[in-house]
Amino acid sequence: MNHADRILPGATLAMLGGGQLGRMFTIAARTTGYRVMVLDPDPDSPAGRIADVHLRAGYTDPQALDELAKHCAAVTTEFENIPGPALEYLAAYMPVRPGATALSTTQDRILEKAFIRQAGLMTAPYYVIRSASDLDAAWHAVGAASILKRAAMGYDGKGQARVDSIEALRAAFADLGEVPCVLEQKLALEREISVVLARNHLGESRCHPVSENVHRSGILHSSIVPARIDDALAQQAQAQSRRLADALDYCGVLAVEFFVVEGQLVVNEIAPRPHNSGHYSLDACVTSQFEQQLRMVCGLPFGDTRLLTPVVMMNLLGDLWGSAQPRWSALLNEPAAKLHLYGKREARPGRKMGHFCVLATDVDDALARAETVYQQLQA
Ligand code: ATP
Ligand code: MG
Repeated sequence: MNHADRILPGATLAMLGGGQLGRMFTIAARTTGYRVMVLDPDPDSPAGRIADVHLRAGYTDPQALDELAKHCAAVTTEFENIPGPALEYLAAYMPVRPGATALSTTQDRILEKAFIRQAGLMTAPYYVIRSASDLDAAWHAVGAASILKRAAMGYDGKGQARVDSIEALRAAFADLGEVPCVLEQKLALEREISVVLARNHLGESRCHPVSENVHRSGILHSSIVPARIDDALAQQAQAQSRRLADALDYCGVLAVEFFVVEGQLVVNEIAPRPHNSGHYSLDACVTSQFEQQLRMVCGLPFGDTRLLTPVVMMNLLGDLWGSAQPRWSALLNEPAAKLHLYGKREARPGRKMGHFCVLATDVDDALARAETVYQQLQA
């Protein structure tokens, strides 16, 4: 690596997006001695509140982008819906990692699924719906139990509907406002797994250990690491993730979500950023996914992705709050548990407020202790 390309501590970095992923990046960057400017319109954003500078403006605000251009050595992002023009503008002044093309491909499920297939990998059978006139053909092609997903701006299972008849499909499409969608066959999942991968500006990459993920109502509930799968499948998932990152000519950290169906890998989706299922790395790896993102953005060498101990991560959703705070003492009494809260003021159902990890010498023990903590939190 050309050392002259390295952006060293003391430099200022731009983060577009102020959610929890931006916050955990900001913590990693500030810990390492960088300054961070966060751009996010929300005056109370989790990352903005702890950044060196929080620009409270829209992502395409010319003045805010000029400020970033003036002060920052590189820019990164924490969610896929940052408008392309903002990234293209900043690219004239500094490295944009990941770049606009990687984001636009993963912003849209229609483009994303075509890209995955073009890379020679499997997706669930699907059909593109652009208007109501496509519904009959879609049902005919995919039919039976399926999931309608809007092509853009869906997350945490939002913008999706499970349908089991053509009538239900029609109603769901109308409900989503007749925006472009894909109808996807509902698969019988053996398991869900994901890979967090970092790729540098020279095209080299490193993977974090594969995570096994449990979803509830379309939202990630827990991640178990190491995943309870055989080594061959884990290596295959990492190789497929590398193939996708290479095809995107990606620079930064990305995550690939897989379904395991009859022992085979099916790619669900790609996230052009660190991922909820990689949060375990904050407590259980030599290098977290956020430090790795920092290293990629700054052109630094890879950090060691080695897992130091088996770990189970569980999300803390707003549902746990109810009329009062969760019973924190249940968590704090478990010496192997690590609490992470994102500083969000308002707890709403389904909103990711924080997570915790439990570290143990084997994964079954970590899981049992995490489940005990989780149950007591809501008691
Ligand atoms: P996020 O971006 O938060 O991961 P999302 O809104 O993009 O979520 P998906 O990843 O598409 O949603 O789906 C959420 C979950 O719903 C999956 O992790 C899986 O548990 C279930 N699911 C989605 N598609 C299918 C499918 N084709 N067959 C079976 N289950 C599915
Ligand atoms: Mg998903």
